[in-house]
Amino acid sequence: MNINPSRFTNWSRTATARRFLTMLLVVLAVLALPDFVSAQTSAKSNGNKSNGKEKGKKADSAPSNGPRDYRSSNFLVHSDLPADEANELLKRLEAMLVLISKYWGKPNKQTIEMFVVRDLEVWPPNSLERPGRDSIEQRAGITITSGSVNRQTGKLLAAKSRVYAIADRGVPQHEAVHAYCHQNFGRAGPTWYSEGMAEMGHCWREGESRVHCLPHIVKYLRSVEPKSLRAIVNGREQTGDSWQNYAWRWALCHLLANNPNYYDRFRPLGLGILADQPDATFERVYGSMSQEIAFEYLFFLQHFDLGYEVTLTAWDWKTKFRSVTATLPVTCVVEAKHGWQASRLQVKAGDEIEVTAEGTWSLSADGPEFTPFGAELPAPKPDPEKPGKSSKSATPKRASKNGTEGLEELPSVMRYESRFKPGQLVGVLFNDYELSEPFPIPADEVLVAPSEGQLFLRCEEAWNRLADNQGKVNVKFKVKSDK
Ligand SMILES: [Zn+2]
Repeated sequence: MNINPSRFTNWSRTATARRFLTMLLVVLAVLALPDFVSAQTSAKSNGNKSNGKEKGKKADSAPSNGPRDYRSSNFLVHSDLPADEANELLKRLEAMLVLISKYWGKPNKQTIEMFVVRDLEVWPPNSLERPGRDSIEQRAGITITSGSVNRQTGKLLAAKSRVYAIADRGVPQHEAVHAYCHQNFGRAGPTWYSEGMAEMGHCWREGESRVHCLPHIVKYLRSVEPKSLRAIVNGREQTGDSWQNYAWRWALCHLLANNPNYYDRFRPLGLGILADQPDATFERVYGSMSQEIAFEYLFFLQHFDLGYEVTLTAWDWKTKFRSVTATLPVTCVVEAKHGWQASRLQVKAGDEIEVTAEGTWSLSADGPEFTPFGAELPAPKPDPEKPGKSSKSATPKRASKNGTEGLEELPSVMRYESRFKPGQLVGVLFNDYELSEPFPIPADEVLVAPSEGQLFLRCEEAWNRLADNQGKVNVKFKVKSDK
């Protein structure tokens, strides 16, 4: 039962102690694990009701509109869903299993058994075990695992999970991630990790790092006071507590799994957690970067939306900054498709600096070009040699970071508001993990630094619409010359 990490940990300690006692006996002992359970928080009803009109072909002996069995290579799903929906769910589960087993580097060894319920009333009275039925009555999900381990080595010998889930809002996928972890690793880790990764499970897309979560998650996380990292990682909350807590855990896992500053350590941390290595903790792995993570985590919560890519907005912690001198200007290149980028320029409040910026950029593959000061350039005359180049496609498409063509833009949940012109070069000052208010960079004029800090620059656009931007500008900062 995984809900209960404390129980599980206690057991692990007992096993370690016993190892010394049994060493001389060389007995291979098998210890029955207590059932461990991962529960999914209840989802809001989306109004789906059984339509009772299922005409599944893969019928077993169940009543005509009762549950039937559906099988694929990794799943056995008992469900009262109509056959087409049940088969569609199987397909999605298989696709997700490919992604997660690739991520954790372990192919699934054993069929994952699931009870996926739309209408509890069509299920015979004893067809679901009690905790599963209880969870479904709360419109949620639960994964119950029983198994055994070698008492001496702590190695998993067998584990079998049973998933109970309502057929709603990704709950079956969420629980299937737990079942995969339990059956293949014997555990799913502490609550922040197991629930965060299970939430990620149903949002994962092959080769993509875009935010794909449910819209109400965006709305919630963008509108409330951020929960601290410490509260997420060390919180005493339990699995199944609330969808809001799941949202925080998802946000942290999404950031750590996708941000290039942190993802190198995240997968090994997860594998360590799943292998029950004592040093595989958030504090051990990320302790030295805690300020950076806290900064990027808050930044993510303030700016993300569907389609947001942490790969494009990761903070630059490496570039060195300096102030301009009379003889040494500071130069940098700013890409249209990235978030805040290091300008290399360090300023004090009141510094007067001459700025020049050259180049153009655009906010979509076929959109108009802008100067770095947000002025739209006239469209070039159509080139007869290249017909159709300037026509704008009806559906906005773009290339992903891995070059996957034709990804459709995801709708924004939050309204993006800005006081700057689209395509304008904008600056912000970073000082001791705090950001100033953003300000426009004046066109070929003098910039008066509003405060002290490291100057970061970007091309003005909605944060979840950066990926299809094109072009870059070269920026140069000089000491203001007295004319
Ligand atoms: Zn869960």
